[in-house]
Amino acid sequence: MSDFGSQEPQKDKKKPKGDGPQFPFGGPKLPDMKPFGGWKFSLLYIFILVVGMSLFNYVFLNRVNPTIDFSEFKTKIASGEIKRVEMTESYFTGYTSAVPRRTPVSRSPLRGSSASSEETMYRTVPINDPDLIKLMDEKKIAYYAVSREGSTILNIIFSWVLPIAFLFFIWRFFMKRLGNMGGNVLSVGQNRAVIVAEGDIVTRFNDVAGVDEAKEELVEVVDFLKNPRKYTDIGGKIPKGVLLVGPPGTGKTLLARAVAGEAEVSFFRMSGADFVEMFVGVGAARVRDLFKQARDKAPCIIFIDELDAIGKSRINNIAGGNDEREQTLNQLLVEMDGFDATSGLIILAATNRPDVLDPALLRPGRFDRQVLVDRPDLKGREAILKIHSGAVKLSPQVDLTAVARITSGFSGADLANIVNEAALLAVRAGRQLVAQKDFDEAIEKTVAGLQKKTRILKPEERRLTAYHEAGHALVAAFTPNADPVQKISIIPRGFALGYTLQMPVEDRYTVTQSDLLGKIDILLGGRIAEEMVSGEYSTGAASDLTKATDIARKMITDYGMSGRFRNVALTSRGAGMGGPDRQEPMFQREYAESTQQYVDEEIARLVDQEYGKTEDILKNRRAVLDQVAAALLEKETLDEKEFRALLESA
Ligand code: ADP
Ligand code: MG
Ligand code: ZN
Repeated sequence: MSDFGSQEPQKDKKKPKGDGPQFPFGGPKLPDMKPFGGWKFSLLYIFILVVGMSLFNYVFLNRVNPTIDFSEFKTKIASGEIKRVEMTESYFTGYTSAVPRRTPVSRSPLRGSSASSEETMYRTVPINDPDLIKLMDEKKIAYYAVSREGSTILNIIFSWVLPIAFLFFIWRFFMKRLGNMGGNVLSVGQNRAVIVAEGDIVTRFNDVAGVDEAKEELVEVVDFLKNPRKYTDIGGKIPKGVLLVGPPGTGKTLLARAVAGEAEVSFFRMSGADFVEMFVGVGAARVRDLFKQARDKAPCIIFIDELDAIGKSRINNIAGGNDEREQTLNQLLVEMDGFDATSGLIILAATNRPDVLDPALLRPGRFDRQVLVDRPDLKGREAILKIHSGAVKLSPQVDLTAVARITSGFSGADLANIVNEAALLAVRAGRQLVAQKDFDEAIEKTVAGLQKKTRILKPEERRLTAYHEAGHALVAAFTPNADPVQKISIIPRGFALGYTLQMPVEDRYTVTQSDLLGKIDILLGGRIAEEMVSGEYSTGAASDLTKATDIARKMITDYGMSGRFRNVALTSRGAGMGGPDRQEPMFQREYAESTQQYVDEEIARLVDQEYGKTEDILKNRRAVLDQVAAALLEKETLDEKEFRALLESA
């Protein structure tokens, strides 16, 4: 993790432009941890040390005969077998010869091995028995005590040096583990992840495809960086922050890099997660440091990947919140306010969860520009495949358009992966050129993995989806006062098979009854269109129905728009927050059972009434519906203009 930032530049430098295959998409990068073997090795080390120490202990410290009973010891003194007794606090040792080989004091109290080879040695655990001294005096046996201070060097080593060394070793070991796990306890406040600016970025806009709208917006950012005067002379404000929003693998990081490459400025890259540390204040210090460095290097780009890691909304944080993250976020806001837009510093950030971001981040002067980086459509996918297969030797039969056609819903990274996978398959088969069947197999492989993340549609599903979305769009177009349709798409997104995007023309704070009914109509439009072409219902409209029902229920219970309970609110806000994220206020029912029954029936009646109305709208415009659906099947996405053109031609 620590060299996350510094690893990247080298990778990028080595990478020639547009080389798909050598740069397979590897998914999330793992933190820089020692391989698992490291653990095992260290454990073995400790084990050997412990066993070694016990052996040493056993061999050198306890090499004495097993102790004998005190009574036996006494008998041996009485019988005259023991001629000399050495006494310590823990042992009495009896020797069978009278003369010690060495002076007793220099001998280890624990060591019996200093006795000469002919003499035998008996050891016993002492009992406080005054008779023993009397007995020894009687027998004229030499007895003497050896004090503990008389320990030899070896003793000191064993009783002090080794245990301390051992503890030190263990301490070092755990510190190292902790360090490797990311939170280096020893370097609080130090900037562990060294932030380095990357210069000479080779990535260009040409390396990115399928996200033309995003590119258009970013071209302007490049111009800001290159000629800031052009904008400031006229009195314009250069944006400070641009937020790239889109699902993973769609090329957000790539785009940020391309901006730096095109503008030929340095590039500071950090991931939001790098800022969030175990200790409060570290992240904030890191932000300060990053901006200080960047100001010195201006003009340059700061790129904060995964902004949501620090930018999560503080508002919904009822569970106490995370001090460290909040401080880091505050520091980021302070820094963003602090620098002058003419200084040539622009902050790019990427996220796939714009919904959780703190609103403060999106205020003017901060990330006030948002650029959508979406999954590529048919044409985009073909272009991306072309970029990534640039360095790959393709057989002339390979039809990249066909590949693009069956990879609806794939992200740029998925496509890069497919090209790489196909090249590997060709190598494995011993072929010189990548064939179409390699692509087919590669897609199959990728689809299996992708299916968990996003849906891959079968032709019939695609057709139904096209009608479904066309239905939403048409009803929206013919509902007075509804927000205009901005984009229709049948590119799967997560578990949604397609989507119809409506853009409000103006901010609305209050909604009228007819607006709400219109919303229900638009939601029902999808299912009705599906039913018109297939003659039956599918599960595809489940979430539309949920939303429509919710609106209908709210109309009756919250907004007082029902026949019987006109102007009466039937719910009251509960104390807590509920929902999967604990972000929705919980409602409590405060009305009678019979009212509940009325509410249920009224919802059903309302939705049914709207269903009939909407069915008429669509049935009367079957030809347009067919046209829009066909256009969607062909192009996968229709923007506002294309949709309008279809309506007018009909
Ligand atoms: P994100 O940051 O949106 O998750 P990345 O920029 O990291 O996605 O994309 C990962 C890789 O996938 C890129 O390095 C590139 O090889 C490939 N890729 C993704 N999107 C595109 C695209 N629009 N055009 C070309 N290549 C792409
Ligand atoms: Mg990224
Ligand atoms: Zn729908």
